[in-house]
Amino acid sequence: MQYFDKNGVAVIEANFAEQVKEASGTEINRCYQCLTCSLGCPSAFAMDYLPHQIVRMVQIGLREQVLTSSTIWVCADCQACATRCPNEVDIVRIMDVLREISLREGFVKERSVADFHRIFLGNIEQWGRQHELSLILKLKLKTRDLFSDLLPGIKMLMKGKLKLLPERFKEIEKVRDIFRGAEK
Ligand code: SF4
Ligand code: SF4
Repeated sequence: MQYFDKNGVAVIEANFAEQVKEASGTEINRCYQCLTCSLGCPSAFAMDYLPHQIVRMVQIGLREQVLTSSTIWVCADCQACATRCPNEVDIVRIMDVLREISLREGFVKERSVADFHRIFLGNIEQWGRQHELSLILKLKLKTRDLFSDLLPGIKMLMKGKLKLLPERFKEIEKVRDIFRGAEK
């Protein structure tokens, strides 16, 4: 990845913030780096850049660092940051947009991450909600990693933590409309 030019200066893409702002519908320049989002983020321990750092990096145009970071995939979309931000910066939507660009432009380093993302969204489109067992099985087949985590998976199944059959959301067509809208 080309983070720095031949003179060791960070590669900046000036219109990156504008692109993210437009796609996410959130006013990214309102962020004044108060750190509230990062201090309350339950996934921060596993991130290479904290949420407030990602926002700053988008503001200044560090496109490749952002699109190759683990943070955008580690984010659990829990909304804790967006609900606490004093400036209504919707980090959840920003993370969504960054994942979409990262996938579309081939920045994802690990194939299984992209596979997980596609299968996760495919299930939501199919049933309107997630069905964890089919998510696991589809991912296992796709990655050909059939036997890791087998025992914990069986235990969860036996304890009733994983539903055998998916349930379809009653208003599935509304969910599919959202997907159709996003594809346009
Ligand atoms: S909470 Fe909002 S204003 Fe504060 S650093 Fe995070 S995004 Fe920026
Ligand atoms: S939505 Fe993502 S970035 Fe925000 S608090 Fe939750 S895990 Fe952290």
